Amino acid sequence: MQEHFIMELLGIKDKHVELWEMKEENHEFHFWLQTKQRTQTCPNCGAKTKRVHSYRIQPIKGRLIEDRPVRIHLRKRRYLCTACKKTFFEKLSFIQRYQRHTRSLEQQVLTYVGDHSFKAAGKMTGLSTNQVIRLFDRRQIQVNCVLPAVIAIDEFKGDADKEKFQTIIVDVQNKKIMDVLPDRLSKTIENYFRQCDTSNVKVVVMDLSKRFKEAVRKALGNPLIVADRFHYMRQAYWGFDKVRREIQNKLRKEDRILCKRSKELLWKSPFKLKEDQKNRVDELLKDKPKLQEAYVLKNKLDEWFKTSNCCTAKAGLEEWCELVANSNIEAFQSVVGTYKRWKTEILNSFVYPYSNGYIEGVNNTTKVIKRTSYGIKNFSRLRKKILWRQVVREVSV
Ligand SMILES: [Zn+2]
Repeated sequence: MQEHFIMELLGIKDKHVELWEMKEENHEFHFWLQTKQRTQTCPNCGAKTKRVHSYRIQPIKGRLIEDRPVRIHLRKRRYLCTACKKTFFEKLSFIQRYQRHTRSLEQQVLTYVGDHSFKAAGKMTGLSTNQVIRLFDRRQIQVNCVLPAVIAIDEFKGDADKEKFQTIIVDVQNKKIMDVLPDRLSKTIENYFRQCDTSNVKVVVMDLSKRFKEAVRKALGNPLIVADRFHYMRQAYWGFDKVRREIQNKLRKEDRILCKRSKELLWKSPFKLKEDQKNRVDELLKDKPKLQEAYVLKNKLDEWFKTSNCCTAKAGLEEWCELVANSNIEAFQSVVGTYKRWKTEILNSFVYPYSNGYIEGVNNTTKVIKRTSYGIKNFSRLRKKILWRQVVREVSV
């Protein structure tokens, strides 16, 4: 291998460093490096000197090559100042003072932190978890305070600083997390908006949360609020499942087990069912008039959701609410109550179909957040980790 190519692999840009020897051993790469002798400035008196006092071999961890550990054996020079007689080690740009690893390994571990836990990133690079956290805490991260035209507010269970839930603000069109807030209180969200430039915000997508709506109204005035499709449909499915479980609990043991495994089958749209699945559904609904009724209502809503457009959605929703009002399904009554309170926002979701891609993006993101941030109790670290993941991804794309 050519020397300059190896320096590039090691991430060392210092032109005064030269390769002296290399070998591969036990799945590790070893490189012996030294610097060219050159004039130094004495840190004690500022005089110039070129006089070498002694040498020392210092072991340093380098950034991984092909996922394999890199050991650098650096032949460090100690210089003697001829003016004040003090000795000192030369300064090196590729390694921080007192550190036993290169700056490029630090960069590498921070990149790994984007998609892995601190512990895993440490393991990959041979650094301790605490070292990784220290490096991460030192790293600054920029947050964009100019909010885009379409934003979404969502919560997730982050469990940091004694708050179970945290809030994320998302740029919907670019699928980017703008910021992470320490809790889901209206006041916190309102204060966040007040610190931002919100003059571009036209549309806010959210779940059916009073707190979010209140914060938006107070801080942003009257942007268009769009109810998130996934969230409001989920309410009806939960309602349906309540009925299913209620009936299931009254069944004999064998039938109960059968019913338990049927959740996905009953949740599925009927026109997506295969012939044998249809038969199973019929079997499950047999002699259970209440479940039948709930099943029909659930499917009606599903049909409304999938076939409505901005012109027909209103009439369809009102019709469904009417059907529920005339039914015996209590679990749906409260869903209707919610739908009535959020009617405008729900109907807006047919005018502004922003939430689909957003749901996918945010759901995937929160899943990854959970995996890579598991157990981070310190909120500011959790927030930074979530935002950092995005920075790393943008660079690597
Ligand atoms: Zn000196």
